[in-house]
Order: sequence, then structure tokens, then C-alpha cells
Amino acid sequence: MRNLGRLCWLFALGASSVAAAPGAVRCGRLLNVRTGELVANQIVVFDEGGTITAVGDVSIVPQGATPVDLSGMTCLPGLIDVHTHLTTDPADTGYKGLGVSAPMEAITGAKNASRTVRAGFTTVRNVGAGHFADVALRDGINQGGIPGPRMIVSGPALGITGGHCDNNLLPYEFHYKDEGVADGPWEVRAKVREVVKYGADVVKVCASGGVLSKGDQPGTPQYTVEELTAIAQEAHKLGRKVAAHAHGTQSIKDAIHAGIDSIEHSSLIDDEGIALAKEHGTYLVFDIYNDDYILAEGAKAGMLPESIEKEKKLGRFQRENFRHAYQSGAKMAYGTDAGVYPHGDNARQFSTMVEWGMKPIDAIQAATINAADLIGWKDEVGVLETGHYADLIAVQGNPLENVKILESVSFVMKGGAIVRNDAAGK
Ligand SMILES: [Zn+2]
Repeated sequence: MRNLGRLCWLFALGASSVAAAPGAVRCGRLLNVRTGELVANQIVVFDEGGTITAVGDVSIVPQGATPVDLSGMTCLPGLIDVHTHLTTDPADTGYKGLGVSAPMEAITGAKNASRTVRAGFTTVRNVGAGHFADVALRDGINQGGIPGPRMIVSGPALGITGGHCDNNLLPYEFHYKDEGVADGPWEVRAKVREVVKYGADVVKVCASGGVLSKGDQPGTPQYTVEELTAIAQEAHKLGRKVAAHAHGTQSIKDAIHAGIDSIEHSSLIDDEGIALAKEHGTYLVFDIYNDDYILAEGAKAGMLPESIEKEKKLGRFQRENFRHAYQSGAKMAYGTDAGVYPHGDNARQFSTMVEWGMKPIDAIQAATINAADLIGWKDEVGVLETGHYADLIAVQGNPLENVKILESVSFVMKGGAIVRNDAAGK
């Protein structure tokens, strides 16, 4: 037994930069994201599995332990983005995207996973990737080989023939359709079973038209209520939640009626849609920052001219409807659609949300406790409390006074392992 103890000690030393070891962090202030309270001089203690075992004042520092010193900083739980596309870069949209191979998509994913976790996002829900590259990325991160956030992944998004989640760039003679295309209630059930078979934790479906697709309109419905209901039933039966891309007023309502768990984009939601979302407990995810990027950089990145035109019409409505839905008390989770704009800039959406009427604490809750609830991980992530993962970030200053400081995270820990520590040059 003595030898075993010695081995464990050596392992902890050798693996300290990648794997977790028991330890503690000393926070100058710690934000309780449930209450919005900033508590001074807090210690967070975690075990070798990277799980928090205690949070409290200095009296709880384990004997012999030297906490990581963040006494000049404010600590928060690791942030969560519920709408990312890690395996895609902005330049992969439009015709250039046709030249991206499956292996390259995986490599892009590894690069962006690192950027995302270093930006303080220790968990993401990745909703739409080709070739199950997201499944491989999730597994690679979990095996410890590549730095990245905890991932919940969907594989290819389900969509109708010719819809937002098909690929409509090539003429008929190429007979090309995207991997997630399925039409009719039984075909969509089979497609749900297929994505689950190949590793999906969540099912993504395109209920309405979209911005970056050729030949469709964001406001028009694509899947019918019958198809959406079949998808939701099949996914729920298999223990998976469903995220529905829905810009259009009708599709938002159809998806909520179908029992889908979150509405992505939510751009043209009306009062009836907001009331329905509240009644059904459906989360709304408004990706209101990326509009700025698409309009400024989209054409250079290779987005189709029609996509830029669609965004011009849609962006303002989405922001106004975000404000209205927030004021109406709808449940909201933080999702950015990173991939449409550069990864690692996930936190830029906080200030847009605040600019459009949200209180900073509510924006932070959207990216912590609400996001954790939506993805089904509220007992694992989203708060710094005993029993949760030691996923912790630290910033200089008070994010409740200036939410923009979340764009400059200087310390990131995931499961007790330090991912980033600017003070130590890491
Ligand atoms: Zn998306």
C-alpha cells in the first residue's frame, strides 16, 4: 500500500499540467451566480477527481495545501455556451465550405476547442457538425489528449430536403444532400436513431429557414408539426433533448408545441410564442451578438450575398424580440452560434445582451445556471458549490458593474486542472 501511495504522488506530480490533483483556489471575491452576491475572501477546495468538496473562508484550506492565489480577482463558475459549432470557422461558410474535408473539420475543432476553453467557456453544447467530427472532438477532450471544454454534441442537424440544414450549393447532377436530411415522421425518427447511434448527446433540428443557407427564408417553416413531434418523441424516448433552429414566428410555436427543449435564434418570436415558451418551460436562445460580425466581416469570410441581405433584415428584429422576451420573463440560456463568428469571442455577447436591456446578473445566469439546466447538467456545472466540477474562471474587476470584463478572463480551471493562468504565463 505504501508503494501505491508513492505511485499516486508521482502521478499527481507528472500530470499536474493536464490532469486534476486535489487542491484549492483562493478568490478575492466569489460571485454566487444564484443570488448575485459577491462574497469576499473565499476558498474553493476540490478533490483529485476535480469535484468541489468545500467552499468557504480561509479556515477550510486543507492542511499542507497552498491554494492558487487569485486574491486580487473575482471568481465565477466556468461559463457555458449552449450554441456553438466548434468544428467550423467563419471562412467555412458558402462555397469555400465545400472544400473542407472531414479530417480538416476535426482539426478545426481541436483548434477551436482550445480557444473556447481558454476564453472561460468550460462547457459547450455543440449543435451541428459534419461527419460526427464533434463526437470525436468530445471524446478526444474527455480522454485528456486535447484541451477543450466539456462538450454535449449533436452530430449532423436534422433538416428537410432543400432546407437550412441541407446543403443547396451544388446543382442537381451532383446529387448531394447533407447528412442530416430526413423527410416525414418515420424518416426523421430513423435519423434521430442514427445520430444517437453514432454518439449524439442532443438532437439538433432545423425547424425554419435560415440565414447562411442558399435559397430559403428564415421566416418560413420547414419541418411540419408532425415531423417535429416525431423528432421530439423519439429523442426523448432515447434520453436526448432537442434544440430547434427556428427564426420564424410559426416554426417557433410549432417547435414548442412539439415538445422541443430549446428554441435557437428565436428571431421572429411574437407574444403568443413567448407565452407558449413560458407555459411549456422552453428555453429561448438568442444569438444576438453575431449580427455585428456577419454584417462587418461576412462577405469577406465568403458568406453568400443573399445571407448578408437576410441578416440585415433579421438582426434588428432579433434584438428587439430578445428585449421583449426578457422583459416578459421567458427562460433564457446563453448561446452565441460561435463558428459563424470566431471562436474564443464567445463572451462578446454579454455586453450586447446588457445593451438590449438584460441585467448583468441575468446574462451571467443565462451562461451558468440556466445553461446548465437546459443541457441537463445542473448538478455538475454552472455553480461553484460542493459536488459540482471545479470549473472556475477569474477576472479583474466586477462583472456586475462591467460585464465586458468577461471578455478578458485571466484564469481558467476545468475540473481542478488549470487551463489558463495569465499570472503564471500559462
Ligand atoms: Zn448554429
